[in-house]
Amino acid sequence: MADGTSQQVWGDRYEHTLMNTFGAPRRVLVKGSGASVWDADGKQYTDLLAGLAVHALGHANPVVTEAVTAQMNTLGHISNLFASPTQIALGEKLIALATRLAPEGTPARVFFCNSGTEANEAAFKLTRLTGRTKIVAMEGSFHGRTMGALAITSNEHYRAPFEPLPGDIVWVPYGDIAALEAAVDETVAAVVTEPIQGENGVVEPPDDFLPAARRITAEHGALLWIDEVQTGLARCGEWFAHQRLGVLPDVITVAKGLGNGYPIGACIAVGEAASLFGPGQHGTTFGGNPIACAAGLAVLGYMEDHDILAHSREMGEHLAEQVMALGDDRIVTVRGQGLLRGIVLADPLAVKVADAALETGWIINAPRPAVLRIAPPLIITAGQLDAFVAVLPSLLDTAQAQS
Ligand code: PLP
Repeated sequence: MADGTSQQVWGDRYEHTLMNTFGAPRRVLVKGSGASVWDADGKQYTDLLAGLAVHALGHANPVVTEAVTAQMNTLGHISNLFASPTQIALGEKLIALATRLAPEGTPARVFFCNSGTEANEAAFKLTRLTGRTKIVAMEGSFHGRTMGALAITSNEHYRAPFEPLPGDIVWVPYGDIAALEAAVDETVAAVVTEPIQGENGVVEPPDDFLPAARRITAEHGALLWIDEVQTGLARCGEWFAHQRLGVLPDVITVAKGLGNGYPIGACIAVGEAASLFGPGQHGTTFGGNPIACAAGLAVLGYMEDHDILAHSREMGEHLAEQVMALGDDRIVTVRGQGLLRGIVLADPLAVKVADAALETGWIINAPRPAVLRIAPPLIITAGQLDAFVAVLPSLLDTAQAQS
């Protein structure tokens, strides 16, 4: 027992204490380091999910810990009645990354918040300031759990109990250019899409979809809003996954990997969209606080210093190659980019495989019945990935035996 209190005892206390929004926790975790975490009984796991694509630089990364601690010891919270150098510097950094493909001098601005759903909430409000209200969203999408983000999230199970949600949403099949073309006209405020649908099972649209979405929205004066909450900041091997396709959106939302576990999100607006918000039209107490922004600066600095983008691309390719090299006919394909990968199974065994993995010390998840998601810390090594690939057939055996 790592801390004198067992898994079982913590589990019981959890059940009586926390609202039941998440179901029973899979384990009670007490410690992390790099790509490893430990549960309350002292058992070690290799974390190939990184807290749902969050711990880009691994658990307890000393560079981030030091930056956060130093900032906390200097100036922690100031509210947005004031500004801080870390907030301004992180805003400048995100703008530089988001406008890498833009003509010199393209204006851009950032709104900081604390999560992915809040980043999308800010973006949603921003679209209303265009004077239009209609949003074109994608079937299979996930954008978060607040009412605005939920309104553009397609999963009926998440939406139904909370209707009515903000309206004027039009749905198109993900990746369907003709359907998008038909749905967008002069009444559309924005098209919102993920570059890869992570929660939907790491689903990729055809490569010409985002460029087409850019062209179609521009033709009709609508904003292109790309949700990079899961895919952005090196997760898919680029600063933003859409940059692989040479696209420049009007609105980009990020969160997850930006703080390496310290909560932070951002809505980045480019071009004319950058000046839509005026004083009093949006706000937050904690968003952009010096500590969160110090974490963000440390993360982006570390990614640059250690060429994490290239590592993410290389390790993602390596994983996909090794999985397919198993030649196991229970595995159909590996999809995704960088280190956001979906291992597609021939049969709906993913939940059981993820359970078997946990039992043997591997954290992965099953976003779809036949898809395993692998989204490890971006500092993962080839050796750690190879060790997982080596056990994968036995995990499939276990899952099959239990079916
Ligand atoms: N957008 C996308 C694409 C996501 O994957 C998620 C979370 O999984 C969100 C938004 C919501 O982010 P958060 O859980 O930080 O609110």
